[in-house]
Amino acid sequence: MTSNENDTKVSRTWDKPFTAPESCPRQADIVIIGGGIVGVSTAWFLAKQGVDVVVCEKGHVAAEQSSRNWGWVRCQGRDTREIPMMLESLRIWDTLEVEIGEDVGFTRSGCLYMTDSEKVLDKYADWLAIAGEYGLDTQVIEGKELDKHVSGASSRWLGAMYTASDARAEPHKAAPAIARAAEHAGATVLTSCAVRGIETEGGKLSAVVTEHGSIRTSVALCAAGAWTSMFCRSLGISFPQLQVRGSVVRTAPAEVVLNGNVFDQRNIGIRRRQDGGYTIAHGTVLDHFITPTTFRYSFKFLPALLNEIRALRISIGKPFLDELRTPSKWALDAQSPFEKVRVLNPEPNPRVLRKIRESVDDVFPQLKDARFVESWAGMVETTPDVVPVLCEADEIPGFHIASGLSGHGFGIGPGAGKALAAVLTGKDPGIDMSHFRLSRFFDGSPLRLESLI
Ligand SMILES: Cc1cc2nc3c(=O)[nH]c(=O)nc-3n(C[C@H](O)[C@H](O)[C@H](O)COP(=O)(O)OP(=O)(O)OC[C@H]3O[C@@H](n4cnc5c(N)ncnc54)[C@H](O)[C@@H]3O)c2cc1C
Repeated sequence: MTSNENDTKVSRTWDKPFTAPESCPRQADIVIIGGGIVGVSTAWFLAKQGVDVVVCEKGHVAAEQSSRNWGWVRCQGRDTREIPMMLESLRIWDTLEVEIGEDVGFTRSGCLYMTDSEKVLDKYADWLAIAGEYGLDTQVIEGKELDKHVSGASSRWLGAMYTASDARAEPHKAAPAIARAAEHAGATVLTSCAVRGIETEGGKLSAVVTEHGSIRTSVALCAAGAWTSMFCRSLGISFPQLQVRGSVVRTAPAEVVLNGNVFDQRNIGIRRRQDGGYTIAHGTVLDHFITPTTFRYSFKFLPALLNEIRALRISIGKPFLDELRTPSKWALDAQSPFEKVRVLNPEPNPRVLRKIRESVDDVFPQLKDARFVESWAGMVETTPDVVPVLCEADEIPGFHIASGLSGHGFGIGPGAGKALAAVLTGKDPGIDMSHFRLSRFFDGSPLRLESLI
C-alpha cells in the first residue's frame, strides 16, 4: 500500500505491530474464527444476548476484506436469496452509530448502475419487478434526471438503475467499531491469535485450538474469509471457494460530482467518501491467479467464471506454487499456515491503477486534478453462485461456517451477524437460511446465478 502523508489520514487497519494476547480463555460458549465484519457482528449480537463469546483473529480486526472494500451498502441488484437479510442489515446500519456510540460514516446516499446500452437498461428495468416484490424504491432513470445524481451524467449515459435507499459506510471504521462494541457488551476479541484447527469428541466439536492454547466449546463459527476453504479442507469439509484480487484507490478531497455509489459496467466503480475524497476501482478488472484450488473447483465455478470472463485477468505463477507447498493438514501443536500470513495483503495491480486513472479522467474530467493518495488491493472470495454459505457443517455438529460473501459482504455483514447469532443460540433468525446451506453445491441443486453485479 502506498500513501502520501499530507492527505486526510486513514487509519490502516493492518499497518501496525502484532501483539500476542495477554491470555486466552480456556472455555467459551461460542468461539468465532475470524475478526472480519461477519465475525465481529456475530460476536456483538451474541454478547448482547449474554453469550460468552470469544473471537480469534490471526492478524488485526478487519485487516483483510472488511477494511479494503469499496464501502457500498446496497440492496440493488442482489440475488433475491440475500435481500431479506440485506434489508435487515440496512435497518441495523441505520441505528448502528447511535447504538455503539461511534462514527462509521454510514449514510443512505443512493446507488446508481449507469449504462449506455439499451440492452443493459432493459435488464435493469426487468429487475424492478424484484425490487417491487421486496418494497425497494429502485427506479430506472434517464436523461436529465441522471444529472440530479451525477454531474454531467446525461451527456455520457443513456440511463441508470437507481436506489435512493442504498447506502455507503467507511470500511476502515465499521468493523473495528463493531468489534469494540462487542467487547463492551462482554465479548473477548483476541488478535494475533490464529486458530489452527478443532478437536472433536464423539464426532462433535469439543474445542477450538489456537496458537495460544485450546478453548473448550461445543459451538464454533468459521468466518475466516479467504481462508475458509483451506481451514475446512483440513477438517475434511469441501468448501468451493475461489479468490480474485481487486485493486482500489482513494483520492484526496475533491469536487462533488456525486454523493453516493456509482457503477458503470465498463469503466468505473466510484463512491463518495466521508472525508470528501472518492474510493475508486475500475469496476470490471479482477485478477485471478490460478492455483490448485482453481482446478479442484473449476467445474462448479464454470458458470460464474463465464459470466465474469470479460472482467477476469487470469494468470499463473507464484500463488500456484505457494498453494502447492502448503499442506492440506497440519499438526495442531506447531505453527500453522494461518500464523505465517497474519494479514493477506496483496499488492494492487499497477496496470489496473493506470486504468482507473484513465477512467476517472475520461468519465469525470472534473476530477482530473484529484490526486490518488492511496492504493491497495484485497482478495475477494466467492462461492460458485456468488451467495454466501451460512450453515452448520453436516460433517461436524457444532462447527458452523459463515463465508463466501462474494464481493458484497460488507453491507450485509451486520445482518448476517444478527441471523447467525440467532442460529448459533438455537433461535429463529426470521430469515430462510436454507438458501445458504453448503450442501446446495453438492446435492444436485441447480446453480442459480441471479446477482446483477
Ligand atoms: C476490493 C474489494 C471490494 C469490495 N467491495 C465491497 C462493497 O463495496 N460492498 C460490500 O458489501 N462488500 C464488498 N466487498 C466484500 C466484503 O469486503 C467482504 O464480503 C466482507 O468484508 C467479508 O467479511 P468477512 O468477515 O466474511 O471476511 P474478512 O473480512 O476477510 O475477515 C476474515 C478474517 O478471518 C481471519 N482468519 C482467517 N483464518 C483465520 C484463522 N485460522 N484463525 C484466525 N483468524 C483467521 C482473517 O485474518 C480475516 O481477518 C469487497 C471486497 C474487496 C476485497
